[in-house]
Formats: sequence, C-alpha cells, structure tokens
Amino acid sequence: MEFDTIAAVATPMGEGGIAVIRVSGPDAIEVVDKIYRGKRKLSTVESHTIHYGHLYDPQTGERVEEVLVSVMRAPRTFTREDVVEVNCHGGIVSVERVLELILDNGARLAEPGEFTKRAFLNGRIDLSQAEAVIDLIRAKTDKAMKVALNQVEGKLSRLIRKLRQNLIEAMAHIEVTLDYPEHDVEEVTQNFLREKCTEVKEEIGRLLQTARQGKILREGLSTAIIGRPNVGKSSLLNSLVQEEKAIVTDVAGTTRDVIEEYVNVRGVPLRLIDTAGIRETEDIVEKIGVEKSRQLLQEADLVLLVLNYNEPLTPDDYAIFDATKGFQVIVIVNKVDLPQRIDLDEVRRHFPNRPLILTSAREETGIDQLERAIADLFFSGRVQQDDLTYVSNARHIQLLRQAERAVDDAISGIDNLMPIDMVQIDIKKAWELLGEVIGESVGEDLIDQIFSQFCLGK
Ligand code: GDP
Ligand code: ZN
Repeated sequence: MEFDTIAAVATPMGEGGIAVIRVSGPDAIEVVDKIYRGKRKLSTVESHTIHYGHLYDPQTGERVEEVLVSVMRAPRTFTREDVVEVNCHGGIVSVERVLELILDNGARLAEPGEFTKRAFLNGRIDLSQAEAVIDLIRAKTDKAMKVALNQVEGKLSRLIRKLRQNLIEAMAHIEVTLDYPEHDVEEVTQNFLREKCTEVKEEIGRLLQTARQGKILREGLSTAIIGRPNVGKSSLLNSLVQEEKAIVTDVAGTTRDVIEEYVNVRGVPLRLIDTAGIRETEDIVEKIGVEKSRQLLQEADLVLLVLNYNEPLTPDDYAIFDATKGFQVIVIVNKVDLPQRIDLDEVRRHFPNRPLILTSAREETGIDQLERAIADLFFSGRVQQDDLTYVSNARHIQLLRQAERAVDDAISGIDNLMPIDMVQIDIKKAWELLGEVIGESVGEDLIDQIFSQFCLGK
C-alpha cells in the first residue's frame, strides 16, 4: 500500500514544556531535511537516533526553532513507515510555526486517527488497539462515521472524566462528614450524595444504552422480513434495495438463496435478510413460511412483518404474530393496489403500539413511509444526532456495567442509612472502574486528589 506523507502535533496543544510533531510517510525524512540544519543531514543518519539542531525557513533563511529530531526508518515504527519526530518548545505559537513549515515543505496535515489508521493498515497494530479507527474505516453511514470520530477525538473520555469528577465531589463530602462528625450535616450530605450518584448512574445508563445503537451503526441493523409466501417480501426488499438482487417470482416461495443486502435507510444501515432460503414445494409451503420466520427472528434487531392486503388473515399469519411478540416490529400490509380482503382492525388489535404501513411494492407506494418508520424507531428521541457518544468496546461495556452496579449499591446504601464510610467504598469502586475505562492509573492517592481539587477548610 502506498501512502503520502502526513504530519500532526502528537502532544496536547499548549501543555507541558515540549511538543512533539510527528511526520510519517515515504518522504518524512526528506521533508524535515529541507528545514533542518544540524551536524548531519537526516537522510544520512542511522535509524532510531536523536539529533540536535535548528529549523530554518528555507524561504527566508530565518531560524525558527531549536529542536531535537528523532529519525525512525520503516518498518520498525508505529506506522511502519519512515517516521520523524520533531521535539520543540511547547508554546502554541512555536508549535504551529513548526507544523506549518513541515506542511509547507511536502507533508499533509494528518486527519484525526490517521497515524493509527496507517499503523493498522500496515499491519502494525491489532484489532483491539485500532478499534475506534477501524470503526472509522468500516463506518457504513455518516452517523457511524461521526460516532467513530467522536471516539477517536476523546468524547467518551471527556464524559467519563466528568462522571469521575462527580464521584470525587461525593467523596469529598464524605470526607468532610467523617472529619467533622459533631456537625449535623448527615441529611444534607445524604441528599447531596444521592443526587450526585443518581446523576452518575443515569449517565452510565445512557452510555450503555448507546452501546447497542453503536453496534448497529457499525454492523447494520439486522432486519428480518417475514410473512407468508407470496405476500410480497422479495418485492419489498427490492424496493428498499432498489437493485434487483432478490429473485422475485410468481411461484410461492421460490426465492432461492438467503440474500443479505445492506441498505441505508435515512442514516440507519439495515442488514436485510430475505426470508425464503430454500426451495419451497407446494405442500409444505405454509409450514415453511412460519418456520422460516421463526428462524429468522432469532437474530433480528428489527422485524418487518408483511401481510397481504388482498387476502384474509390465515392461521399462519396468527402463528407469525405470536412469534413476533417482544420484537421491534413494523407491520406492513402490502398489495394495497388490489382490493381489500384483510381485516385491518384485527391487525391493529394485535399490534396496538406498532407502526402499520400500507404499501404496494408493485406501484412503489408507501415505501417512503416505511423508511420513515424505520428511521423513527431507531432515532426516536433516544439519540441526539449531533452529539453521538457510543460505547462499542466490550471491555468498556463490562466496566460500565460494573460501575453502574457500584453506584447503585451506593445509592441503596444511602437510602438504607448505611454507615457513610460503607457508601464511600462503593463510590470509590465506581470511580476506579470508570478510571479503567479511560486507562487512568487507579493507583493515585485518592485523598490527595480530593484535597487538591477542593478546598475543605472550615
Ligand atoms: P414473497 O414470496 O413474499 O417474497 O413475495 P414476492 O415478492 O415474491 O411476490 C409474490 C408475487 O406478488 C409476485 O408475483 C409479485 O409480483 C406480487 N406482488 C408483490 N408485491 C405486490 C404488490 O404490492 N401488488 C401486487 N398487485 N402484486 C405484488
Ligand atoms: Zn420472496
């Protein structure tokens, strides 16, 4: 794989004394050589060595910065490409000046996560390391892309830090209570603790709820189209996919293969599975309709149940109704271009809280409403579209679940008037678990932290 040369500031802007600007790609050494003067040209130095020198603007000859430059040749580098790291003084102005120089001399500004992406594409890092970046590569819709970007940019970390801050505040209050037992602060403290813990618990719950949606955005919403043979499943699938990939025939149940098709419905990626996986013969047609439906339901996130407007409900329809209990169902009554023979009130009675859409796959009517119903189900108020923070990492989900439980224990401790230092233990546990999510060392002295952040003097 051939890449161009990219550069970016590798250390947080405006913090600390030294900033590192990383350059990676086939021309990394050449680019920095154009602006660097030291004892030797960088193109002649050994790999994995550090060199002292100065950066100059080749345009004006002006000396810009005193630097230490590390040269690392492929493949023993993070990206497996030639990498040059320029260490300079950390002031924002000088860092930007150096970056600008590098960009002016043949490198391109790296996109967020692009170094990691290269490391992954060049086989340098494993799946779990590149997780968020892989999400970026795999992202099937704009929204999924946004989610992945947010993760790369540290949205999740910021949220977790905020939650930990809340827990620290709670613990600080407990410290006060323990230090001044003669004060009658018990009730106030309890209310404060309950409030803080509840806030944290709700926020964790929200994060966990998004975990499922995050998975769906990356992998597609597994969607089963079910219904008796000949009601128009394949035709509807075709309308959604708008490619004649599924085989539509006049003979009941002759769609030959299980067809998987991704379709982007208003930002929701559906992984559609056609129903008829095997050839169905006349006599076992009805049976297979029901059985196949059951089978497909196993892995479905969303069920599109198709009924025939032109036929009365049959026992098989009722059997399928039963099988869809507890699923996210959208009821589609197809073939509305033909005379009505179905009892729609009866259908509504069975699905009082589910969307019911009338369609004609033949005349392409109702498809818009169907798409809207799908998108509404997925995005209905639960996701703020501009601020998606999803948890997708299994380890994170695990830790968040444990943290949620710990906070919950703390809340019941408070409610049951447990000794306050017992509550403290649960809160501390939650704080530590959340710390593990963002990889923050849990060894720090907690009390020091508390007192460095809060003035408790009285
Ligand atoms: P499936 O067995 O449920 O997948 O049904 P198909 O999609 O294979 O359709 C069965 C038959 O119904 C085909 O002849 C289709 O052309 C026809 N059909 C599908 N949708 C409609 C519709 O909305 N109106 C009419 N009149 N016929 C339809
Ligand atoms: Zn079919």
